[in-house]
Amino acid sequence: MRKGYADPVDFDDNARLDTSRISDQRGRRGPGLALGGGGLGIVGVILALVLGVDPGTFTGGGTTAPQDGVESTSDVAQRCRTGADADQDEGCRIVAIENSLKTYWASAVRDFQPARTQLFTGGTSTGCGQASSAVGPFYCPPDQGIFLDLGFFEELRTTYGAKGGDFAQAYVLAHEYGHHIQNLTGQSERARQLREQTGPQGASTRLELQADCYAGTWAANAQREGFVTFDDTDVAEGLSAAAAVGDDRIQEKSAGRVDPESWTHGSAAQRQKWFTTGYKSGKPSACNTFSGTV
Ligand SMILES: [Zn+2]
Repeated sequence: MRKGYADPVDFDDNARLDTSRISDQRGRRGPGLALGGGGLGIVGVILALVLGVDPGTFTGGGTTAPQDGVESTSDVAQRCRTGADADQDEGCRIVAIENSLKTYWASAVRDFQPARTQLFTGGTSTGCGQASSAVGPFYCPPDQGIFLDLGFFEELRTTYGAKGGDFAQAYVLAHEYGHHIQNLTGQSERARQLREQTGPQGASTRLELQADCYAGTWAANAQREGFVTFDDTDVAEGLSAAAAVGDDRIQEKSAGRVDPESWTHGSAAQRQKWFTTGYKSGKPSACNTFSGTV
């Protein structure tokens, strides 16, 4: 049991954590991010949770150096040994959720290959280009990698108005893992071939809603192993996070108006609907966001 949330996601204290696919780059000075160039090629490749693909975010110019004293250099491989560690430490919690996601998807998808996850602060270099934290959590297909600055979760509460809580973190990681599954199964490629890319029924939105649905199927199945425990209050945190990063909510906040034609991730209602579809069915096959109206 941790401080901060009355009703935390709880991990089996004795379960061993596997840190082999997590790279902890927090507190390290990333490679200098060059200004300009190289950004446009990544459009359509990066799958970011919140803001879609903004080439400017990836070509540099953002904050690249970690701020002194904000996050000391840490290494999850040293610190995260058991489920009890995951209950106490944010980085270890990410490890534990990753472990659960890998176990679930290994049983749900043929020819499964696990994703890699990197924690970073400030900026990082990826197979999709240089990224600053401003892009939010994202998945980069060439790396088969999920990139995450834990500072985003604070932003999810303060800027985007989500309830917060540790299940919101689980939802975000599970959504990115969903993009990895789409990459493995060829859904991402299928989406790129659709004519209509943006808008509430566009390819990008369909892809994002499927990732939300996959987050729901993980949540439905995760507790079976006995490794992680959560309840309806926790799931409500996930739904709150899904709504907070809906395109309509973000546009209202940032521009004061809503422009559905430019949507890339779907509305708050769409995102909640598809997370719920995954959660209620527990079946990835129910996440058929490429047919009909989503
Ligand atoms: Zn996404």
